[in-house]
Amino acid sequence: MITAKARAVDGPDKSFRAAEIKRRNLDSHDVLIEIKYAGICHSDIHTAHGEWGDVPYPLVPGHEIAGIVADVGSEVTKYKVGDRAGVGCMVDSCGECENCRKGEEQYCLKGNVPTYAGVDKYGEPTQGGYSTHIVVTEDFVLKIPDNIELDAAAPLLCAGITTYSPLNHWGAGPGKKVAVVGMGGLGHMAVKIAHAMGAEVTVLSQSLRKKEDGLQFGAENYYATSDPATFEKLAGTFDLIINTVSANIDMNAYLSLLALDGTLVNVGAPAEPLALNVFSLIPHRRSFAGSLIGGIRETQEMLDFCATHNIAPKIEVISADDIDEAYERVLASDVKYRFVIDISTM
Ligand SMILES: [Zn+2]
Ligand SMILES: [Zn+2]
Repeated sequence: MITAKARAVDGPDKSFRAAEIKRRNLDSHDVLIEIKYAGICHSDIHTAHGEWGDVPYPLVPGHEIAGIVADVGSEVTKYKVGDRAGVGCMVDSCGECENCRKGEEQYCLKGNVPTYAGVDKYGEPTQGGYSTHIVVTEDFVLKIPDNIELDAAAPLLCAGITTYSPLNHWGAGPGKKVAVVGMGGLGHMAVKIAHAMGAEVTVLSQSLRKKEDGLQFGAENYYATSDPATFEKLAGTFDLIINTVSANIDMNAYLSLLALDGTLVNVGAPAEPLALNVFSLIPHRRSFAGSLIGGIRETQEMLDFCATHNIAPKIEVISADDIDEAYERVLASDVKYRFVIDISTM
């Protein structure tokens, strides 16, 4: 077994503490990664706080992982010691079902193995990236291109792919009008990526507080959703709306902003069911959809796309001792736009 230093939480109301966790010895296809940076995703907070069902405490969150390959198993072909490597939201899947064979491992019919709060094929609980080392089978490791800094690469592994995949799937590109609802960690990536894809991007945010940033990230327009005039003005406008907000918003109002054949895709997930009027969909043949991260092949494509277009998240690097404070600041929307833990401070 390999011992890693980590930051763990023991219950919904507990603070993070220093911990030591075990990583398995390398199997023939395993890669050992020395983690340099780990992003803080809103999902980490929901899970650590026990809001998404039973959590196997002690829990080490973190599924935005960037580091350097430190060792490889005997049959590993894709990686060698010293390579820059990343791990996202999943570390394994069955590899055999229809969806896995299509490269959509996130939709594995037997369920993908999440990077933390899951159970791996050896029956052991998975623990995430708030730690110094992780062992992952090579097929679930990503190559981080040379021109993306490791600290900035980390959030791409969740926030980046979560927004890239629906933009890609629903054809964001030249001539398409895309709206991004919410401009937090996910939203600001959606703006940058959609703009780089060639779409005309509009941000729909509660206030105009972050307007300057939004325009700088590549949005053409920026509207406050607290102003009812926004919904009148933009009715029937967008081909695609990416909703990154996990609060329960008035979906019928947002659906009214879609053009003919437009699609509203949810990547944020409110805990409570939504009130949806089907007449918000029928008259303009609109679609209401959801999307979960992206497959491994598409995640690599996203990293390469970001490298080509010089896209990186805007981040604030913190020390491992500041995770609790960072969680509070995320919940207060006081982050521009992603916290990344410097693992060397562990
Ligand atoms: Zn995430
Ligand atoms: Zn599968």
